[in-house]
Amino acid sequence: MTPGHIGIGMTSARTRERLIRRLRDEGIRDRRVLERMRETPRHLFVDEALASRAYEDTALPIGNGQTISQPYIVARMTAALLEAGPLQSVLEVGTGSGYQTAVLAPLVRRVYTVERVKVLLDQARRRFQTIGIRNIVTKHTDGGLGLPEYAPFDAIIVTAAPAGIPLALVEQLEPGGRMVLPIGEREEQALVRVTRTADGHEHEILERVSFVPLLGGVC
Ligand code: SAH
Repeated sequence: MTPGHIGIGMTSARTRERLIRRLRDEGIRDRRVLERMRETPRHLFVDEALASRAYEDTALPIGNGQTISQPYIVARMTAALLEAGPLQSVLEVGTGSGYQTAVLAPLVRRVYTVERVKVLLDQARRRFQTIGIRNIVTKHTDGGLGLPEYAPFDAIIVTAAPAGIPLALVEQLEPGGRMVLPIGEREEQALVRVTRTADGHEHEILERVSFVPLLGGVC
């Protein structure tokens, strides 16, 4: 290996470590989540021109008017999903860059992830192959209606914001299953955890966030 390679590797390891410290300071306590945030190569999920900023705690553009989520939010949503115990089957709506999927997949048995923009999904698929994650099933479809053919799921994560709680998705949760999602317009959006109960659902507000909107149709 040339000294140049070593230099790049060390910088990357240092900036990753700095990110993990920051996530811990911001209140992320789950060790498995912190470990996944450390191990997942976020620089492979953004354009090469943005790779040097990949370990900043910020959302970045990924093309098609979409963004890769802020690492803190990815960690927070992953921890909120895992809190109640091990997960077998998880649906993710909004693959985007695939980063959230790659953080989550090694922590659960299988992730079904759907994306409405084909070019983004194809790129994400190549990334999953490159880093060797094999328990992800991808589908190019409008996730607003979920993925009935694989339901029920014990958890659902939505990474684009609908106006309200999508009941079609609630219905695809196992009883006791949970969904973590942003809800509302960009300026007044909240991260919400919905739990399916015997006779409906209940929800709790986790914190303020700012996601792109959940849109209909595919392209
Ligand atoms: N977790 C992703 C976030 C990407 S932004 C990441 O970290 O990269 C949200 C994504 O949701 C976008 O790629 C957008 O195209 C997708 N999206 C929006 N509405 C959708 C819908 N109805 N079905 C599937 N994907 C949708």
